[in-house]
Amino acid sequence: MARLVIVSNRTAAPRDRGARAGGLAVGLREALARRGGLWFGWSGDICQENPPAPRIQEAGNIQFATIPLTQADHDDFYVRYANATLWPLCHYRLGLIEFSRSAYEGYLRVNRLFAERLAPLLRPDDLVWIHDYHFFPLAAALRALGVANRIGFFLHIPLPALEVLTALPRHRRLMSDLCCYDLVGFQTGDDLRAFASYLEREGGGTVDADGRFRAFGREGHAGAFPIGIDTATFVELAEAAVDGPHVQRLRESLAGRRLVIGVDRLDYSKGIPQRMESFQTLLEAHPEHRGRVTYMQIAPISRGEVEQYRALRRDLEGWVGRINGRFGEFDWAPVRYLNKAFPRQVLAGFYRYAAVGLVTPLRDGMNLVAKEYVAAQDPDDPGVLVLSRFAGAARSLPQALVVNPFDVEEVGDAIHMALTMPREERRARWNEMMAELRGNTIQSWCESFVARLAAGDTGRQAA
Ligand code: UDP
Repeated sequence: MARLVIVSNRTAAPRDRGARAGGLAVGLREALARRGGLWFGWSGDICQENPPAPRIQEAGNIQFATIPLTQADHDDFYVRYANATLWPLCHYRLGLIEFSRSAYEGYLRVNRLFAERLAPLLRPDDLVWIHDYHFFPLAAALRALGVANRIGFFLHIPLPALEVLTALPRHRRLMSDLCCYDLVGFQTGDDLRAFASYLEREGGGTVDADGRFRAFGREGHAGAFPIGIDTATFVELAEAAVDGPHVQRLRESLAGRRLVIGVDRLDYSKGIPQRMESFQTLLEAHPEHRGRVTYMQIAPISRGEVEQYRALRRDLEGWVGRINGRFGEFDWAPVRYLNKAFPRQVLAGFYRYAAVGLVTPLRDGMNLVAKEYVAAQDPDDPGVLVLSRFAGAARSLPQALVVNPFDVEEVGDAIHMALTMPREERRARWNEMMAELRGNTIQSWCESFVARLAAGDTGRQAA
C-alpha cells in the first residue's frame, strides 16, 4: 500500500498546542496510522530568516515534518491572502475582501517554499493529499520541481459561484493552478457545480458526468466528498459526559431552564449576530419562553489579528448587553456568551444537555458542530437541530429544522418550534440524521478520498 503524505497549514504534531485536536485531525491521523505516512505543515513558529529544513518528529509510524515561517511570509500568506482574501471570497463576503498583489505574491512564495521543503521528503509512490484554501497552488509548485506523484486536494470551505469567484483578481491563475491536481474534492455537489461552471465558462474547459475535467491544458478528476465526524467516539463522549462534573454544574446553574446552544469559532461566516437577533425575536414573539430558556453561545476567539474579527467581537458584545439588559431578570440572564474554547469531551456533554442546537452560519463548507450536536443526543429524548440552509451539512441533514439565517424571524420561529416539538417527531428526525452520520464518518471520508486518489483514471466517481 502506498504511503500517504498529508499537507495542511497546521498539523497534529505532538506538543503543537496551536493546532486543534478536532475530529478532522483525529481522522487524518488514523488514516496515516493505517498506511504509515508523513504529515507536513507549518510549525506555528515564526523564524527570523529563510526557514531551515523541516523539523521531523515521529509518533508510531507517522512522521510529522514542520517548518516555521518568517513574519512577512506568515502575514502575506496566512493573515492577508488566505484569511483576508480567500476566506471572505469563498464565504460570499465580497465587501470584506482585501486584495493586494503583494499578499498574493506572498501566498505564491509560501506555496513555493512548502513545495521546496516537501519535495525532498517524497518517495516516488507516495500519495500526496493537500488540504484547504491555503494551498490552491501547491500542486503546481510541486510539479514545477518535477514531482510526478499523484496529488489530491480537498477544499474544506465552499467554492463560490462563478459570479463571486470572478471578482477575485487573478482568479484564472488560482483556478488553473487548482487544475494541476489529479483529484480535487469538495464538500458538496454545489461546490462541484461551481467548479464545473467556472471551468466551462472561464477556463474553456469541460467537466463530464463522472467528474473528469479538462481545462487550462490540464486534466484530472473532481468529486464531492462530504466530510463526516467520528460518530461512534462522539456518542461515547456524550454518554460519558452527561453525568460528568461539567454537565452537572451546567444543570445546576440553569435551575430547570432549557438550554439552547451555539458553538462556533468567532467568525463572521457563522452568523452569530443574526443568531442573537433571532433569539431576541423569539423572546419578543413568544414571551412564554422568557425566564424559561437560556441561550449559551460558546465562541472562542479566532484570527484576532484581523480587524474584521475584532469588529465582530465588539458587535457581539453589544448584542449580548442589549438582550440581557432588556429581557434579563435578577435571577436570569437570557444569553451566556463565552469567548473560550472547550475540549470535545466537555462540548459533547453540553450538546447532549441542550434542547436545541443552533447552527446558523451565513455560509459554511460543512459545519461539523451540526453533526456533533446530533451525534451527542440521547436517542430516547433527543434535542432539535436548527440548521442553516447555507451550511454544507444541510445537504446531509435535511431532517433538521432548515432555516435561512438571514431571516431572523424565521429562525426565531424555528427555535420556538424546536422547543415545543413533540418527542415522537424529535425521535423520527433524529433517527434519520443519525443513520446518515453512522454511514458517513470521518473514517469513511478519508478512505473514500484516498481510494479515489489511489485509483487514478480507472477509479469510479465518488458520490
Ligand atoms: N470546537 C472545539 N471547542 C470549542 C469550539 C469548537 O473543540 O470550544 C470544535 C468543534 O467541536 C468542531 C470544530 O471545532 O469539531 C469546528 O468545526 P466546524 O466545521 O463547525 O467549523 P470551523 O471552525 O472549522 O469553521
